[in-house]
Amino acid sequence: LPKRTKLPEWLKTEIPAGGSFAKIKKDLRGLKLNTVCEEARCPNIGDCWGGGEDKTATATIMLMGDECTRGCRFCSVKTNRKPGPLDVNEPENTAEAISRWGLDYVVLTSVDRDDIADGGANHFATTVELIKQKAPQILRGPLSVDRVALSGLDVYAHNIETVENLQHIVRDRRAGFKQSLSVLERAKATKPTLITKTSMMLGLGETDEEVLHALKALRAVDVDVVTFGQYMRPTKKHMKVEEYIHPSKFDHWAEVAKGLGFRYVASGPLVRSSYKAGEFFIKNVLL
Ligand code: SF4
Ligand code: SF4
Repeated sequence: LPKRTKLPEWLKTEIPAGGSFAKIKKDLRGLKLNTVCEEARCPNIGDCWGGGEDKTATATIMLMGDECTRGCRFCSVKTNRKPGPLDVNEPENTAEAISRWGLDYVVLTSVDRDDIADGGANHFATTVELIKQKAPQILRGPLSVDRVALSGLDVYAHNIETVENLQHIVRDRRAGFKQSLSVLERAKATKPTLITKTSMMLGLGETDEEVLHALKALRAVDVDVVTFGQYMRPTKKHMKVEEYIHPSKFDHWAEVAKGLGFRYVASGPLVRSSYKAGEFFIKNVLL
């Protein structure tokens, strides 16, 4: 049998509706904010934005616009070598949205802005500082590495995305395995109490040996948290899924990673870098 067949049952998700979904969508539009949830066509959007009786709604805000100067082959964010200027109101608007939602944890991420001298580090760090003022309860997750690492951030996340041998196929040529390792290493060196976190997509054609090699390399630079999720092709223009990895294999990698000393591991077909991030960190890492 070919490894890649139609979408397995374990990857099918509910159509988004209900709970706080509509409010989050309205606030985001009103404040001109973008999310990875929408731009990356994340399958968990109904679950994360909807919240529910025993769940807090969450979203991953994507700073610095909705156009990236890079073009990774797995990613559905639009590419533009010369995106428009940064929205100077974005840090304030982000803090406003987060304080309205009353969250305990938020994930901030951004497009890559190779067109800006500091890559947007100052904009990002200002956002973290304003969030701290407007929503002091917030714990913040995931740029210049030092400026952001020292902004008051709790978790520094930088995704390695895939194994070393597939980097050049999967990621923009300006990104790379060793470069990502050095970013994670630098963040920890700048502030040793910072929790460092990374994510890998499976199903891109990686071998077990390659995954193990990546995990060992991450531990060698003292990365604390790793997540694994299934790569899902956003559109036919993006790279193909080579394999739908069975849930039991995700369990296997969770065990292997824990055995290597990661403080926390999330591994499953629908796990995304930010999926239930607050729950994971508050319960398992920060306490
Ligand atoms: Fe997507 Fe790559 Fe840009 Fe990140 S750097 S937003 S993964 S295209
Ligand atoms: Fe958004 Fe992350 Fe949830 Fe996906 S998993 S909907 S990107 S918060």
